[in-house]
Amino acid sequence: MKPSHIEHIGIAVADLESAITLYEKVFGLNCYNIEEVADQKVRTAFFMIGETKIELLESTDPEGPIGKFIEKRGEGIHHIAFAVKNIEEHLKHAEEQGVKLIDSKPRKGADGLDIAFLHPKSTSGVLIEICENKNR
Ligand code: ZN
Repeated sequence: MKPSHIEHIGIAVADLESAITLYEKVFGLNCYNIEEVADQKVRTAFFMIGETKIELLESTDPEGPIGKFIEKRGEGIHHIAFAVKNIEEHLKHAEEQGVKLIDSKPRKGADGLDIAFLHPKSTSGVLIEICENKNR
C-alpha cells in the first residue's frame, strides 16, 4: 500500500489571476483548469509538471480553510497530495497506525479527484492529502 506519485502540491495564494500569470509567464506552464470548490470555499487553478500538478488555491471566504491559513501564515505551500489506489483502504490503514484524520471518509475535491486530509498534528506539521482519480 504505497502512493504512486505526488499528485499535486497545493499552494495558497492571495490572488489567483496574478498567480496564474506568474506560472504562465515565468515557467511557461499552461493553466488547464480553473474550478471553484464551494464546500472548501476556494477557487483552484491547475498546472501539470510531469506527472505532478500545481494546485493554486484562492479563498472565496475569509472564514474558509484557505482564508484562515493565509491570515495566519501568509501565502505559501498549503498541502502535499499523494496519489493512491483505493483511498478508503489507505485512510483505514493510516487510522490504524494512529494518524488523526481530518476526513474519515473521502469527499469530492477539485479536478475530478476523491480526496481526504490527514491531520498535520499526526504528520510532522505537513498537511497531507491522499487522493484517487476513480475516473481513470
Ligand atoms: Zn489538494
